[in-house]
Amino acid sequence: MDQATVVCVRLRPSSSKETGVRCIRPEGEQDVTFTNPDRSLSSYGYDKVYGEDSTQADVFKDCQRIVSSVLNGYNGTILAYGQTGSGKTHTLIGSISSPELQGIVPRAVQALGEGIAADTSGAEYEVRLSVVETYCERIRDLLDPSRDNLQVMQSPTGAIFVDGALEAQVGSEEQLVQVMHTGLAARTVAATCMNEASSRSHCIVTVTVEKCCPDGSVLVGKLKMVDLAGSERQDKTQAAGQTLVEGSQINKSLSALANVIYALTDTGGCDGAEGGSSSHPAKHVPYRDSKLTRILQDSLGGTSRTMLIICCSPCAENGPETLSSLRFGTRAR
Ligand code: ADP
Ligand code: MG
Repeated sequence: MDQATVVCVRLRPSSSKETGVRCIRPEGEQDVTFTNPDRSLSSYGYDKVYGEDSTQADVFKDCQRIVSSVLNGYNGTILAYGQTGSGKTHTLIGSISSPELQGIVPRAVQALGEGIAADTSGAEYEVRLSVVETYCERIRDLLDPSRDNLQVMQSPTGAIFVDGALEAQVGSEEQLVQVMHTGLAARTVAATCMNEASSRSHCIVTVTVEKCCPDGSVLVGKLKMVDLAGSERQDKTQAAGQTLVEGSQINKSLSALANVIYALTDTGGCDGAEGGSSSHPAKHVPYRDSKLTRILQDSLGGTSRTMLIICCSPCAENGPETLSSLRFGTRAR
């Protein structure tokens, strides 16, 4: 689990609304077996598979390496991918008020605070938090929603930032959690047949840690945690009008994300479907194809560490979407 890109699968428990007929089950720690509609079985391999009874702590344990690298000046990205209702928000945010059910974002915020408190080297830290969403290729600040239609910029040192997005300077862990709450509460939601509060936007939480060492050097590390929009095909939600337009935009940015990850992990050439990608040194990574990938440009690839969590429903009625998510995950490795 120490390679640059780690791909995991998390199965959520079946809900009371579902039939309970499973189409997927974990096979050891790294594989899942998927039951096709014709009852044949297919096997898919990942860096880690979290079963239906996995806890928030189990998942966070494997994020810790990324979180600690941020304290040493590296960038890290944790992405939750999957259809609406598959457990993305549960995995990333969870229930903030219950310590056991807290997801990756509050745990990471806490771990960063603890790491800073434990540093006796005399270094001084500044921690900043921003929360933005991209929705129909438009970037909006969730800490100050009046800041809309923001642009992505690159500093002379290559750092990527959303110009004009509020970066809340936070002095304490409680303050950090408080600011995070504000941002997450403001997410754009639209009702669809699949899920009343289905999220049609990508939500990007960024924690920037600036460390001023006693020798005068400055290290900046950024942790981005991304709750992606539902990956489901638009026809399944039977939405119309505005929501249909949204669907195509959402799928466009998810396929842009896929293309960036495939280019970085260089599996596109072997797999055939994507073509084009090769191990040529000047290989093009198409960051500019969507706002989402542009925002993630300095945190995907290079010296950054990435963890992609494919969230899946275990139930047969979601089989086609689950299969498409599983394939997205295997291609990203
Ligand atoms: P998404 O963000 O992908 O649309 P959610 O995270 O909102 O999905 O999950 C859908 C529902 O399933 C929620 O009620 C959530 O609490 C529940 N859920 C998801 N994952 C788990 C899990 N691992 N354990 C228990 N409940 C879960
Ligand atoms: Mg969600």
